[in-house]
Amino acid sequence: MDYAPSILAKLPGISSRLDRNLRHLLETLESYMPDDQVELILRAYKFGAEAHQGQTRLSGEPYISHPLAVAQILADMHLDGQAIAAAILHDVIEDTEIDVADLEQQFGNEIAILVDGVSKLDQIQFDSQAEAQAESFRKMMLAMIEDIRVILVKLADRLHNMRTLAAMPPKKQARIARETLDIYAPIANRLGINRLKIELEDLGFRYLYPFRYRVIGRVLRRRTGNQRQIVKKITEQLEKAMREEGIEGQVNGREKHLYSIYKKMAEKKRSLTDIADVFGFRIVVEDVNTCYRMLGIVHGRFKPMPGRFKDYIAIPRVNGYQSLHTTLFGPKGLPLEVQIRTVEMDRVAESGVAAHWQYKAEDKTTASPQRRAREWLAKLLEIQKSGSPEEFLESVKVDLFPDKIYVFTPKGDIMPLPKGATVVDFAYAVHTDVGNRCVAAKIDRNLVPLRTVLQNSHTVEIITARGAKPNPNWVTFVATAKARSAIRNYMKSMRSSESIDLGKRLLDRSLKDINSSLRKIGKVRMRSVLDELNIETTSDLFGQLGLGERLAPLTARYLVGGEEDDETQAAASLVIAGTEGMVMSYAKCCYPIPGDSVMGYLSAGRGIVVHRNHCGNLTNFRKHPEKWLAVSWEADIEREFSSQIQVATVNKTGVLAEVASVIGDSDSNIEQVSVMDRHEDCTEISFLLTVRDRTHLARVMRNVRKMPSVLRVSRVCA
Ligand code: MN
Repeated sequence: MDYAPSILAKLPGISSRLDRNLRHLLETLESYMPDDQVELILRAYKFGAEAHQGQTRLSGEPYISHPLAVAQILADMHLDGQAIAAAILHDVIEDTEIDVADLEQQFGNEIAILVDGVSKLDQIQFDSQAEAQAESFRKMMLAMIEDIRVILVKLADRLHNMRTLAAMPPKKQARIARETLDIYAPIANRLGINRLKIELEDLGFRYLYPFRYRVIGRVLRRRTGNQRQIVKKITEQLEKAMREEGIEGQVNGREKHLYSIYKKMAEKKRSLTDIADVFGFRIVVEDVNTCYRMLGIVHGRFKPMPGRFKDYIAIPRVNGYQSLHTTLFGPKGLPLEVQIRTVEMDRVAESGVAAHWQYKAEDKTTASPQRRAREWLAKLLEIQKSGSPEEFLESVKVDLFPDKIYVFTPKGDIMPLPKGATVVDFAYAVHTDVGNRCVAAKIDRNLVPLRTVLQNSHTVEIITARGAKPNPNWVTFVATAKARSAIRNYMKSMRSSESIDLGKRLLDRSLKDINSSLRKIGKVRMRSVLDELNIETTSDLFGQLGLGERLAPLTARYLVGGEEDDETQAAASLVIAGTEGMVMSYAKCCYPIPGDSVMGYLSAGRGIVVHRNHCGNLTNFRKHPEKWLAVSWEADIEREFSSQIQVATVNKTGVLAEVASVIGDSDSNIEQVSVMDRHEDCTEISFLLTVRDRTHLARVMRNVRKMPSVLRVSRVCA
């Protein structure tokens, strides 16, 4: 540190806390960074301090104390000079007169872009509305895809804001805490930055559930006296064992953080004492071989719990985390959780994607967090190009809560999939073509249904057939975004042929209303109208009509070339055959069935949605009369329709099963049951069931009504 005096000498004597903090930052930086970079950061500090001159935080401190603290967090993770300069400057665009151009001129392009990226993230508000959130989240991910340092600065910013959250009004505290738990902690986790994750979680927990936080904290503190004795004793035993085998390394007792204890209590429904009584140890040794040797030694001293050993060295977690995990029976049967890893793995476990920042170039191992992060971001970029914001959010969420399983291909390759993934997900993970053409599958050589949920270490073999097509129904059970979007894409192409058919029928009908027909119009007139409307082919026109993007009556009049007559025609109704496929759907508010008087609503992009005439939702839609069309049922429809009834029963065990069996005996399938309301004397249950038509539904209701334990039966109408 020969250069240290040159920089520190330029500082005034330590006169305030601020000076002390700055000096601490520079000392940290000088421990790993070349001179000129430290100079750059000092220059950024002076620039920032001047820009924020006169501003204070809610706590009353000078504003620059905040960016300075953010920079310190990143310096402790040994980030590069540009990221730290950007951290110091991260609020100047937002809060001062300075703009991006000024920064670019002063500090160059890269730092300016980083600060700009962080400022844009600052404008994102995550509120509870799922849709708004999805969009904000998407923006955030996009910023991250461009330069991951943007998100690192943002995470450090959030961490310091959480540390100083006490200065905020309680209402804001709760909102910021929730956002931290929902968004920022999972991102830190996904990037493998354990240190940040743990602190963000504990602070978020503290402000969101202050009471629970205090209770758990108090119980833990009370136990520690006794616990410390046990931890010390076991640590000594492990160290002794190491020495005897001539292994160099460290053993540490591990403190569980409050939020992880709370989460375990909530997830596993176990008591606080059960969870707090688990002791954690970490053994850090030189190399991978020694890890496995150490595992053997540990298993020799304490009996291992069956089924609890995990080899994250051979199969790292998705964020690059590597370690051996095992649980042992300790003294008096107390469970001991032991992690064994190398010095290097330990560093990665703490800092994740930030672990290797200064050695970017050497990063070649497949398990490295940087590489994992890059692969992840590349995948996100792909999904974001094709899907809706909601879909994107969903897939990001699946990634951020990484409950992965690992299965094998018949050749023995490992394939990671999210928990809950099915055979079909696996097929699409192999290749989109394999997914599209899969017809059957074998797990560990036994034939299984396609919807079978995979378990860890299954060997999966997919059987495909030429000409096979994906089933739209698969969307209801697949767990991965890749499978879902592939199936949707396929459906979209299929839907387009269906919408062409429907569009043609709609136009035919509208032409008939005004005493015309496609034949009467003729090809020449059609061509010229298509040109006027800037549509390429007749099929394209039909497609637009079928999807409700264009209205049939208007198009018909246009084709006839007639005068605009406003006379309402006694419109012939469109006949529903029940075979229209995906362009005709039945509203989930009122569940229309054959025999009901119904209306059709042309919904852009979704074709026709059929509602019952007295559905409450019709009033909303009445505002757009041009989008409504008369529809009627064809005489003999073969398929089944969903319908909903509500049944009030006496409170008696087994009554639900009785009603269900009467419904089943009436040739109806139950799709869904929910208990709506339980009163002292009766229970309201709603059934979603399938029937052929109104007559069938009436028979089902009559049979249910006859039951002695049933008080009332009614059809649910929206
Ligand atoms: Mn900030």
